[in-house]
Amino acid sequence: MSALILSGKDVSAVVRAEVAERVASLRERGRSVGLATVLVGDDPASKVYIRNKHRAAETAGMLSFDRHLRATASQEDVEAVVTELNADERVDGIIVQLPLPDGLNGEAAVEMVDPGKDADGLHPFNLGQLVLSRPGPVPATPGGIMRILAHYEIETSGRTAVIVGRSFLVGRPLALLLGQKGIDATVIQAHSRTPDLAGVCLKADILVAAVGRPMMFDERFVKPGATVIDVGISRTDDGLVGDVDFDAVVDVAGAITPVPGGVGPMTIATLLANTVALAEANDN
Ligand code: NAP
Repeated sequence: MSALILSGKDVSAVVRAEVAERVASLRERGRSVGLATVLVGDDPASKVYIRNKHRAAETAGMLSFDRHLRATASQEDVEAVVTELNADERVDGIIVQLPLPDGLNGEAAVEMVDPGKDADGLHPFNLGQLVLSRPGPVPATPGGIMRILAHYEIETSGRTAVIVGRSFLVGRPLALLLGQKGIDATVIQAHSRTPDLAGVCLKADILVAAVGRPMMFDERFVKPGATVIDVGISRTDDGLVGDVDFDAVVDVAGAITPVPGGVGPMTIATLLANTVALAEANDN
C-alpha cells in the first residue's frame, strides 16, 4: 500500500493562518509585529530563501525589514546591523541568513542577535533553553517537523526515532525535541561515522534523513510502515531533490514527506510562529 503523504504545504498553511490571526489580534491593540533578515552577498539560493521569508511575513500581516550587505562586508559590518536591529522596537524577530560568505563567522553573528528576538531559535541561549526543556523559540526546521508529526497524529511515545544527521541546525535539536518528556521517542542519532547505517535505519519507526545527499535513502533503509521525514534539499538538473528516493520508499513506508512540499514550507511557517510568539512575549 502506498504511504500517507505528509503535506508540509497543507500543514504550513494551517500554521500561517494561525500566525496571521495572532498578528491581527496584536495589531488590533496597536502592536505591529516585525521580522528582519540579514543577508550578506549574492548567493542565489539564499536570495530565494530571503524573498520567500519576506513574502510569507507580509502575507501574515507582519512588517518586514530587509538588510542586504555586500559580499565584501566585514564581520563588524554584519554585527553592526544586527546590533541596530536588536535596538529597533519595530523588530520582533531577526534572521541572519546562513551560511555567510567565506571569511565571515556566522555563529558569531547569530550570537549577536538578542535571544529575545531570535526568530531562528539558533542563539546558544535558546539552544540551552531547549536542552533544559524550557519554553522559547526552537530551531525552525526541527520545530516544523514536530508540527507535521503532531498534525498527522504520528505516534512518538515509545517509538524509535532514527535521525541521520547531527547538525546544530537540524539533527541535534530535533533529537532533543523527539526525546523530550511528553513526546517520549527513543532517539538514535546517526551520522557519517555510523557503521551499518541501513541496519540502524531499519530500527526506525520514525526515520529522519537530514544529510544533504540526493536519493541516498532507498527501501533498504526503511522498515515497513515507518514514518519517513525527508529534510534534505539538493539542487540537481532535475530540480529540488530530497535525501530519500521517494519512488523506492513510498510503497514501504507508512507515511512520508515529499520534496518539495514537505519539510521546506514548515521551516518558514515555524519562523513566523517563532516571531509572533516573541512579539507576544514582549507585548506589555
Ligand atoms: P550538514 O550541517 O551538512 O550536516 C549533514 C549531516 O549529515 C552531518 O551530521 C553528517 O555527519 C551527516 N552525513 C553526511 N554524510 C553522511 C553519510 N554518508 N551517512 C550518514 N550521515 C552523513 O547539513 P544540515 O544543515 O543539517 O542540512 C542537511 C540537509 O537538509 C541539506 O540537504 C540541507 O539543504 C537540508 N535542509 C533543509 C531544510 C528545509 O527547510 N527543508 C532546512 C535545513 C537544512 P557528520 O556530522 O559525521 O559529518
